[in-house]
Amino acid sequence: MRVDASRDEIITCMLRAAGLRSTAQRRVILAHLVGSSHALTAQQLHARLCDDGHGVGLNTVYRTVQALVDAGALHTFPDHGELAFRRCGDAHHHHFICQRCGRVEDVLADEVERWVTAVAQRPGYTVHSHRADVYGTCPAC
Ligand SMILES: [Zn+2]
Ligand SMILES: [Zn+2]
Repeated sequence: MRVDASRDEIITCMLRAAGLRSTAQRRVILAHLVGSSHALTAQQLHARLCDDGHGVGLNTVYRTVQALVDAGALHTFPDHGELAFRRCGDAHHHHFICQRCGRVEDVLADEVERWVTAVAQRPGYTVHSHRADVYGTCPAC
């Protein structure tokens, strides 16, 4: 996979935000995530890296994606008992997840935000975050 200039900048920012040193291995891991509309498990990501001729260890993949999740740079999705990872947009969003091909789309939903606001206004409750995912099949499937 070719790494162009803008993607390179995104990757540098993500690594910096996650407090990770910018190594060649981490950059190539991230390049594959930034270029994918599908959520990928660490094993799927590792397989793609191998297919593209990158000798990155599975443990390095696990550690890198976990650090990026901790930094809020990746969203996680349950995938048959494992976790899949995706680089989403920066703006607050929800998800549509295709259960056939694994494609994930960012979804904006004012209704959800209004509902969360209503929940947060209940006396004594403090809301820290929320998440809404919709599962189904995408137009391509
Ligand atoms: Zn997301
Ligand atoms: Zn699909």
